[in-house]
Amino acid sequence: MRRLSIFGSTGSVGTQTVDLILRAGGASAYRVVALTGGRNIALLAQQARQLRAEIAVTADPALLGPLREALAGSGVEAAAGPEALNEAASRPADWVMSAIVGAAGLLPGLRAAQSGAVLALANKESLVAAGKLLMRTAKASGCRILPVDSEHSAIFQALAGESLERVDRIILTASGGALRDWPLERLAAARVEDALAHPNWSMGRRITIDSASMFNKALEVIEAHEFFGLAPGQIEVIIHRESIVHSMVGFCDGAIMAHMGSPDMRHPIGYALNWPERLPLPIARLDLAAMGRLTFEAPDETRFPALRLAREVMAAGGLAGAAFNAAKEVALDHFLEGRIGFMDMAAVVEDTLDRLSSGSGLQIDAGGLEDVLAMDHLARVRAAEAARARDGMTGR
Ligand code: NAD
Ligand code: MG
Repeated sequence: MRRLSIFGSTGSVGTQTVDLILRAGGASAYRVVALTGGRNIALLAQQARQLRAEIAVTADPALLGPLREALAGSGVEAAAGPEALNEAASRPADWVMSAIVGAAGLLPGLRAAQSGAVLALANKESLVAAGKLLMRTAKASGCRILPVDSEHSAIFQALAGESLERVDRIILTASGGALRDWPLERLAAARVEDALAHPNWSMGRRITIDSASMFNKALEVIEAHEFFGLAPGQIEVIIHRESIVHSMVGFCDGAIMAHMGSPDMRHPIGYALNWPERLPLPIARLDLAAMGRLTFEAPDETRFPALRLAREVMAAGGLAGAAFNAAKEVALDHFLEGRIGFMDMAAVVEDTLDRLSSGSGLQIDAGGLEDVLAMDHLARVRAAEAARARDGMTGR
């Protein structure tokens, strides 16, 4: 029986992964090693009982007691805190889903990569912050990383049987997010609720806001650069409102392979779960005639500066990705707490990158774990300063 672990099993990607595993027979089809979550102890315990997991881990040490209580009599081991997460990631498994949100997913993902498991990677932040390190670690252990982000899964599928040397470019599609039609003057005053109203995808809160600011697409451009090893100039972004084309690959002979389907994360999750086979999945079939047409338009970088920042980060290389991701997470926290405006998020990230590139330098190509964590920490401090400065400026 295949041994599986899911990091972030209580989140949007995590619950959809559990759904597919249950449909495929749950504990009678797979041996579930570790399930991990944040503060939703009731859900974590329910999943662990249902899938007869070996261990359930909450990220919050203060919740160990409640987790133990919720698991009493189940035979499932309970643990808590970042160290326990890393320990769970070191337990032998054949397939590991990395679906924690943010830089917190980096260490468990790296541990899983070291163990040589197949790593289904939803946590794009780990590729942005430490792409070289993660790819190097996976290569050394024989770990196969499968992208779960829908765009990257689409590209991965379009590349099956092809050679990367024959690729001209990849075209990442973007829905444009909840605020895609808002003029610049209005964007500055956008509230959290406005940014949460995503037109096509139902996702976690943080990625939904990132989608509205296009920071999600900016992370995905860097993710594609790190994962597929393509040059920054080969990665394009196009706004595609319908979210039916999940991304495209353009080849040297002028052909473009587009991957299409309903916007349902269970497709890329299921593809990674069943890989290298393609098995039936419970995804709504497209009715193209009913849809009528698909549209494409260029992104507007004045309203959404995140894409420009992503190109600067790729040009800088080194630890710039770690700084970018950390600064973005801090800016997002400040926006969620109502302390800075929507457009301030990009300004905070840009200020942070500017300040760090004139100081110790982002370009050092060290890229060991210590360097990545040190840069992550430094960028968080700088970004918090930049956010406080904006807070004062806007008088919120
Ligand atoms: P989510 O917020 O719904 O779930 C995140 C999971 O991580 C939860 O289980 C939560 O408890 C856990 N978690 C949060 N903070 C943690 C911490 N500090 N330590 C340990 N665990 C923590 O997020 P999501 O939307 O499922 O996204 C997960 C990852 O997948 C992100 O990297 C996101 O960018 C990526 N992704 C998500 C989607 C989607 O449709 N939701 C699509 C593509 C990529
Ligand atoms: Mg995506």
